[in-house]
Amino acid sequence: MKIALDRLAAPHTTYTFGPGCQVACAGFEIAGGVSATLEVHLAEHGVVVVNGTMLATVVQQCDRCLGEFDITVNESFTYHYHLGCAQEPERVGDDSGENGATAYEIDELAEPILDVDDILREQIYLCIPHKLICGEGCRGLCAGCGANLNNEKCSCSSKRIESVFGVLQNIKGT
Ligand SMILES: [Zn+2]
Ligand SMILES: [Zn+2]
Repeated sequence: MKIALDRLAAPHTTYTFGPGCQVACAGFEIAGGVSATLEVHLAEHGVVVVNGTMLATVVQQCDRCLGEFDITVNESFTYHYHLGCAQEPERVGDDSGENGATAYEIDELAEPILDVDDILREQIYLCIPHKLICGEGCRGLCAGCGANLNNEKCSCSSKRIESVFGVLQNIKGT
């Protein structure tokens, strides 16, 4: 999905995508696609302001039990761009001065094209936690037999006790 910034119907245009838009996101499976709304505002001096919201359900695998679970990405975001072909945006004051620092980052656009997929992908990546656990109480997999301890009770621990008793009995017997 792309927006041609030189062909906006108005300097202030709202775009709606989805629900069910496909966004390729390496390493992530998105269940049911993405829905998003982007408000594109062409400001002065080639500055483009994009305000948006998005909603997606990302299917993830739990690091502990390897079970699948969903993460809901429900984000609002703002991006600032500058069209490379336009003149430099006017900076208020001196950049190095205390009051001159820009409060936001401006990405330079070489072409007047806004890649919506890129924005949505970035939002998804920002939302996915580093450590993926399906729930606080996830009991993980049994180190002995690999059973998912959230769903079943394996017999490893009881076997271990039996074998300890067995060893004791053998010692007694000799
Ligand atoms: Zn888990
Ligand atoms: Zn087990």
